[in-house]
Amino acid sequence: AAMIKLTNVSKVYPNQTKGLQQIHLSIDQGEFVAVVGLSGAGKSTLLRAINRLHDITEGDIEIHGASITRAEGRQLRMLRRDIGMIFQGFNLVKRSSVLRNVLAGRVGHHGTLRTILGLFPKQDVDLAFEALARVNLIEKAYARADELSGGQQQRVAIARVLAQEAKIILADEPVASLDPLTTKQVMDDLLHINQELKITTIINLHDIDLARAYATRIIGLRAGEIVFDGPVEEATDER
Ligand code: ADP
Ligand code: ADP
Repeated sequence: AAMIKLTNVSKVYPNQTKGLQQIHLSIDQGEFVAVVGLSGAGKSTLLRAINRLHDITEGDIEIHGASITRAEGRQLRMLRRDIGMIFQGFNLVKRSSVLRNVLAGRVGHHGTLRTILGLFPKQDVDLAFEALARVNLIEKAYARADELSGGQQQRVAIARVLAQEAKIILADEPVASLDPLTTKQVMDDLLHINQELKITTIINLHDIDLARAYATRIIGLRAGEIVFDGPVEEATDER
């Protein structure tokens, strides 16, 4: 059974820009997929559609068999809880500690009140430390997020998704602002997590070489349409 399934998905923005056009896509549990394409090809639109950060105009998106397109209320919250997002700009609370940022991944498990009060059960704190261990940042737990380097901040974002116990990671240009060495550390972390925890991973990348080096499947987008979908070995530059 597919972990993520898109059936005839189109997204037209209010100003009539076509973000996605009739996308059919099925991704299995544990896949490590890179979405490649030039700026404006629709990569972000695709990721934001999958966790319903924005609504699509046509079609249906299923997460392990349940339609997120038609979900509401509690069901939508439960589906979103299974999906962790990682952004180019890290999206951390800069003035909070690393630990607090990772604990933010637990919010969907408790509701907001507990989070506002900053009250998390011990199991959550244990999970947060376990997540920080996976990205080798335990010693930074009590540092302020904005004291960390860009690569470290992105690994905190990865730890937050781990604490969330997400089954799917959607990463939108996660290394676009990082230098080559830091890029490698972040991509290695994402790959290890994918392999060890079988978390289904979709990463938007504009760097095809990086996609080839890490992904097992590459989806090429152009003007909102899929122009390539296949194993890495078949992804050539002549597209
Ligand atoms: P990227 O190319 O890195 O994916 P963009 O610079 O295209 O990001 O988009 C940045 C933000 O501006 C996004 O929130 C996107 O929704 C919005 N945006 C992008 N293109 C347009 C547009 N043509 N009209 C309105 N908003 C846009
Ligand atoms: P990519 O992530 O591949 O750079 P996007 O998904 O950001 O591409 O954008 C796909 C198309 O949709 C582009 O033409 C972009 O300008 C447009 N777009 C993105 N966000 C918005 C928005 N909020 N409003 C209008 N158009 C948008």
